[in-house]
Order: sequence, then C-alpha cells, then structure tokens
Amino acid sequence: MTAKSNNDQTGPRPPGDHNPRTDPPLDFPDAAFGELTPADYDELGFLSGLEVHQQLKTRSKLFCRCPAGRNRKDYDAEVLRHMRPTLSELGEYDGTALMEFKTKKEIVYRLERGSVCTYEMDDTPPFEIDMEAVRGSVEISQLLNLNLVSELHVMRKQYLDGSIPTGFQRTAMVGLTGSIPFKVPELGVDRELRIRQLSLEEDSCREVSDIGHRITFRTDRLGMPLIETVTEPDLFTPWELQAGGRLLAHVAQATGKVLRGPGAARQDVNVSVAGGRRVEIKGVDNHSGLPLLVHIEAFRQLNLLRIKAELEKRGVEGKILMLPVQGLPWQVSDLVVDAGQRLCDCDFAPIRQAYQKGEKICAVRLPGFGGLLSYRTQPGVTFAREFADRVRVVACVVDRPFMIHSDIRDYGLDPQQWRSLSKQLKADSGDALVVVWAPEEDAPTAVGELFLRAQDALLGVPAETRQAFRDGTTGFERILPGPDRMYPDTDTPPIPISDSLIAEVKSGLPETPWDREERYMKLDLNASAARDLARSRWADLYDALDPRSGHVAVRLANAFRKRIPHWTRQIGQVALPAPETISPLVRALEVTDIRLEATEQVLDALLRKSENESSEEIVARYRRGPDDLDVLASGLEEVAEKIAEMPGRSLETLVRWGMGVLMRRFLGKLDPTRVSELLRDELGEVVKGDC
Ligand SMILES: [Zn+2]
Repeated sequence: MTAKSNNDQTGPRPPGDHNPRTDPPLDFPDAAFGELTPADYDELGFLSGLEVHQQLKTRSKLFCRCPAGRNRKDYDAEVLRHMRPTLSELGEYDGTALMEFKTKKEIVYRLERGSVCTYEMDDTPPFEIDMEAVRGSVEISQLLNLNLVSELHVMRKQYLDGSIPTGFQRTAMVGLTGSIPFKVPELGVDRELRIRQLSLEEDSCREVSDIGHRITFRTDRLGMPLIETVTEPDLFTPWELQAGGRLLAHVAQATGKVLRGPGAARQDVNVSVAGGRRVEIKGVDNHSGLPLLVHIEAFRQLNLLRIKAELEKRGVEGKILMLPVQGLPWQVSDLVVDAGQRLCDCDFAPIRQAYQKGEKICAVRLPGFGGLLSYRTQPGVTFAREFADRVRVVACVVDRPFMIHSDIRDYGLDPQQWRSLSKQLKADSGDALVVVWAPEEDAPTAVGELFLRAQDALLGVPAETRQAFRDGTTGFERILPGPDRMYPDTDTPPIPISDSLIAEVKSGLPETPWDREERYMKLDLNASAARDLARSRWADLYDALDPRSGHVAVRLANAFRKRIPHWTRQIGQVALPAPETISPLVRALEVTDIRLEATEQVLDALLRKSENESSEEIVARYRRGPDDLDVLASGLEEVAEKIAEMPGRSLETLVRWGMGVLMRRFLGKLDPTRVSELLRDELGEVVKGDC
C-alpha cells in the first residue's frame, strides 16, 4: 500500500516558480483590461502558460471497466471519509497537504451503482489500463510533435482536497518536449509554441457542495481518462494565452477522440509578472474569459509587490509576525487578544450574534500594516480579501461576515471601540487591527492564517492556486503544491508503447489544424478565414464538397460561416447536412451555372429544404436559362408600369424597389450590376416622362 519516497523520480518538475525578471515595474500605472499594448505587458514582465485538461472519449474509465462519460446526479449510497497525509508516503509534508489537513474536512462521496465500482473507492487494485485511452493520448502527443516515452510509468499525484478518494491521482507521462506552429496573424504572432509534456491521467470527482467542514462529491466522473497538456510559459499577452488555449483545444479535437461540451475541457492558467511568482488559476472552462482573468491577476501581483515594497520601507520583518507554535494565540501572543467581553454588546450585530452563539472573537494587531488592508488589489477587491480568503478556506468559517479591520472606520465598530482595542493591543497608527470571529475550535486556525498571510505579504506574491470568478477576479483556493506530490505507483507495471502501436497511430493521424489552414490558404482564403474554417465543425463537410476554384472556395467558406450558425440557432438542428445535399450548389457555382452572389441564399434554401424536395430542384430555380434576358425585358416593363403609379419618389428609392422585385427572380441568373443599369435606363424614361 505505501510506497517509499523516491527523490529521483518525483516526476516532471514544476517550472521555476519565480518570474525570471526580478524587477517589478512598481510605478506602472493601473490599467483596465483593453488599455494595454503588447509592449506594456512586456514591461510588466507578463508570462503565462497553460495546463489543458481534456476528457477522452472512451467506453471505459482508465483503470476500471466502469463506463466513462456518464453524468449521474442520483446516487445509491454515500461514503464518509477523512483525509490525512502520511509521512511515509510523502517523505515530508508539503504546504498543500498541511493546509488540507488543517481544514479538518469531512468528505462525503455519492455513489451511483452504474458509474462507479470498488476500484474508485480504493477497495480494489487498478485493472489494466484502458488501451483506447492510451492510443488517444499517443495520437494527440504525435500531433503536438512530442517525444513519446517508450514505457508508460504510472505515478501517483497527491490530491488531498478530497476530490479523489485515494488521496492521489494515477497519471502517466506519454510525451514530452515538443512544439507546434503558433500563428495568429491578428496578433502579429508567428512562432512556435513549446509544449512541455502530455500526460494521461484520471479525472477527479465533481464537487456538489462545500459548506463549513463538510464537502460532498459525485463519483460518476471519477477515474475517467483525461489528457493534460502543459505548455511552457511562452504566452506573453492575455490574447496570446487565449489563442494558445484555442489552438490546443483544436489540436485535440482534430483527432475526434476528446469529448466536447461543458466541462469536457478545463484549463489551469499559470501567470506571473516581473518580481512575482507563478500563480495557478484553476479550472477555467471557457476561452473567452481568459484574457480578462490574467490581466487582473497580473495587476494583483503588481499590487502585492507594491505592498511588499511599502512593508520593507516601513521596516516590517517576518519574525515579528510569528505566533508561538504552542498554545492558544490569545493566550501566548501579545499581538492577539480575546475581545469577546469587550465587544459582546457592541453595535455591530454580527459580532454580538457570534458572541451569543459562543464563538471566539479575537482582535489581532498586524504591526506595520496600517492603511494597507484597504489597498486595492483587484477591481472592487482590497488586500483585506487576501486575509479573509485564507481564513474562510482554511478555517472553514461559514458565517458572513467573519472579519472586520481598522482601515475601514465606518463599518463594524465605532471609533471609540477601535481606540480601546488599539490601547489593549498596544497598537500605534502604523499598525492594522483585525477582528475575526469563528467557532472556538476554528478560531486558532483563523488567527494563525491571518499571520501566515501577513508573512506572505513580505514575499510579495504567495505561491498558490486561485479560483476564477465570473467577473474576472480570483480568490485563494490552496497553497501551490510542491514537487513532492509525485511518487511511483506500485500497483501498476510499466506499459510499453510499442513501435507497432506508434506506427499504427501514425498511419491514421488526422491532418493538423495548421496543415489544414495552409491548405485552405492555397484555395485563396485569407489567414483568418482559413483558421476559422479549419476550426469550424463544418470543416469536414466543406472538404467533402471539395471546391476547386478560388472564387467558389472563398464564397462557400464565407457562406458557411454566416449561414450555418444562424440556421443552427433558428432550427435547433445539430447535425450538419450530408455533402450530397449541398454539392449540386457547389458544382453549379463552379461551372458558373449559378452566379456567386446567390451562394448564401441557395445554401439557406438547401439547409431548410423539406424531405420531399430535391437539392437539384432548388438549385435549378437559380440556374441561368437561355431566355433569362427575354424574361428580364418583360420584367422591366412590368416594374416600369408599377413605378409609373408611384409618383413623388426619388430615382434612388425607385431603383432600390425595382431591384428588389427583379432580383428575387433573377438572383444567380443575371449580373445585378447589369440589371440595375437596364432598370435605370427604363426608369429614366418613366421618371423623365413624369416631369
Ligand atoms: Zn470503476
């Protein structure tokens, strides 16, 4: 059961945590998202990278034969667990492990009979690895130009947040050190994006709720095969990050072996600025919110670095922010007092109620922090939130609010009460006071976290994982795990990646998105149209239609991009039509039987056609005929007659009206410019005659 610590095989090392540049541009003015140029981000020392997780489309889970890809909210049983790190497995505790241990969580797993077995609950050793998943991960590794490993070595990656009942995730590196073309014309990007590695791993549980000391998970997703693709920190602006995320998603989707839809792809984003260090924002499940998110994180780091510089200027040192290891903080530190008696009848209801419930109310002095807690770190968020988040997450405080501070004098206590607390704590104007309340058993942790966060302020940017919110701000999630999280799995033998498997996968490799884009550009599409088409879900349909001439290829790509999404929204139709439905249009366009400007309209008609109509019949309505010009002549006369009965309109209005009538009949058959000329000639007579 227990594996010995193996320092030679800790798995892939995390990237250097610190930004390579150590000179934060502290004077750089705060800027809203959208105001900065790439040169500005360069000045900030902005670096970002991605860890993209994508679920593989397999029948079974990775290490057992339960079905993959189920989504079951109902459950047949619940299991309760407590999580505890063991020294023997880890060699030593790391920050994450200790933090999770401090939260004293009760973990509840909901089990649904059809989607989980004893393996996921750690009662049965792993079965053989799912080869469908291995093949899929090898295929995606090849598309990413990674060096494939010769054997999969299954490792255990420590997971103590409860989302995996065993406390570790089984993971195996499949490929490492590669790069793919990264071309984004609208960003002026044309270089390689380096990929650090790709691993095949098990997905974790879905969280149902996390309230106080009780966290509840669903296990249907647990153990599903997942690939994790990690880039180097090669993305230098928020938009490059977004483009990189889209590119990686697209490479995987090109194989048809990853799931699509909500939650099927989730990315962790690593960000840092000069003087800062890598912060990981977890589980972002769409690309559109990425740029704002990392922009805000860049400035959060810069603001934390400004706070650090200010603390240094004030001569604040870490050792004065240390609590004694033993004993209750309010008994052993002169920076903490039990303020229950003093505040039990204050005007602030949350504190009075906390006291009545028997909670501990502590007042804390943070030496040298005066005025800093109200310093803005994110839009609408101050430095005080960094402290509150740590208390909330680690001490599991449920009630709101649970903390106030002396930088805000008009909320909570009145000035007289702050003065009296100041006196008791021997604080001066350079210090900040915090009042925090929590159930008695959680209060020491809550107070301890305040001091730990204060010490982190002297480092600038703490290494942590953060949770993304909808408005682009983030909140503390957990301490960033150290490199000790990986150790070999003793339950699984190495799995060879044979030459024959590699050859077999290679022979069936799909076209890469960049090759596809290049092919479309040879058809005369411009760079952005080529990329849009290559990434569209109708790219295969387009290829099956095989437009040969540049004019037709461009028109058709354009018409697809405009009309298919519109049609999908209107009809709610998901499946695309068969190529045979559309091909009569393409063939007619190519032999100029139908004029190009009719493309969208004919496509629309074909998309909406009923079962008993043939595509040929629809296309025929737009096809040129030998007597089109004769018919036009009589059409022009009819229009002129009608117009003669519409006095007082300008010539332009009349031409527009007349063109509307005529082009309904002649779209695809006659050149609109020519029709317009003829109409003007005809109307010239009528309008002149009128005067
Ligand atoms: Zn199972």
